[in-house]
Amino acid sequence: MSERVIPLAEPCLRGNERAYLDECLRTNFVSSIGPFVERFEREFAAYVGAAHAVACSSGTAALHVALRVLGVGLGDEVLVPTFTFIASANAIVYQEGRPTFVDSEATTWNMDPSLVAEEIERRGQDGRPLPTAIEVVHLLGHPADIAPLVRVCDEHGIALVEDAAEALGACYRGGPLDGRHVGTIGRIGCFSFNGNKVLTTGGGRMLVTNDPELARRAKHLTTQARLPGLAYSHDEVGYNYRLSNLAAAMGVAQLEQLDGFLATKRQIAARYDDAFHGLPGVTRPPHAPWATRSAWLYSIRLQDAELAASVLNELVTAGIGARPVWAPLHRMSPFAAAPIIGDGTVATEIASTAISLPSSVQLEPADQARVIDVVRSAVSGILTR
Ligand SMILES: *Cc1c(COP(=O)(O)O)cnc(C)c1O
Repeated sequence: MSERVIPLAEPCLRGNERAYLDECLRTNFVSSIGPFVERFEREFAAYVGAAHAVACSSGTAALHVALRVLGVGLGDEVLVPTFTFIASANAIVYQEGRPTFVDSEATTWNMDPSLVAEEIERRGQDGRPLPTAIEVVHLLGHPADIAPLVRVCDEHGIALVEDAAEALGACYRGGPLDGRHVGTIGRIGCFSFNGNKVLTTGGGRMLVTNDPELARRAKHLTTQARLPGLAYSHDEVGYNYRLSNLAAAMGVAQLEQLDGFLATKRQIAARYDDAFHGLPGVTRPPHAPWATRSAWLYSIRLQDAELAASVLNELVTAGIGARPVWAPLHRMSPFAAAPIIGDGTVATEIASTAISLPSSVQLEPADQARVIDVVRSAVSGILTR
């Protein structure tokens, strides 16, 4: 194979990243204090339509703080999808809470809202304890069906938190949530800026909320809960979770390009959608009529696990950075004892049959055509064998 590897999801740094980083070096603002942090927070909040934003050093940090300020503590139950990246569930354990997993729905691959609603109603009728929080994840850039979760959380006083790590730019279409960005609907939302995400700062996260008191507490906890003034006075046990001015400078530069990134990613997804339309053995990823996707990562489902493994193998052999999606968390050793709502078969089915295809902003049409060719010939070669 002489052809170069086509990456799965690489950063695109073609804007003012270098200029703004130079500015940090020139002005000596390289740490967690500096003008870019505040600017990134302000501009990000305006972009997604949230009242407040708090920049954090990682996605995991932001989720941890979110759960803490929402009152999740020792022994508190939090509902989370079983089909997600492990960071979503780890944050619950950092707070010594108890994750209860929820199976996926086949239509969006996200947490099944009807399973959640039925469980909460049943517990309400039986007088059984309710979860402290529900953590919904917008997987692979497709919004979760959040309206039923908002209803159930409002009715029962449960905190709704959104892990929007992969879904910056994803919105709702039509209905009462028309035009609203994911991450701004629950009490707190978190977005990731890891290297492979829609927007990158080299690592970091934004916590957004419309609640000024939650924002104030989150910012306080991420800065070691230090009180104003020169003295080292702290009123809580906090964390060093602030984003650096260097990272925020990259974030500001990336945000300037975000609309272009999203347009390109959606074009890439549309080209894959066209190419795989009606292809036997292949199902395209969810795209609900009420959803505008971020198209972070384009993932197809194959007709069975065997076909998925073969196609993945052929892609990797051809130098294409395809990957399986995550394995369900309720099967993983750190969470083996955790309960699950639904039996997990939908998530298990998706996890064993789905693979993600290269979706970088700079994916060249010719490279995408190569990916499509390999998928097509692998599938037809195997199905006609
Ligand atoms: C990437 C990701 C995270 C973790 O974010 P980091 O910024 O890498 O810590 C959490 N949840 C989901 C669903 C993710 O995809």
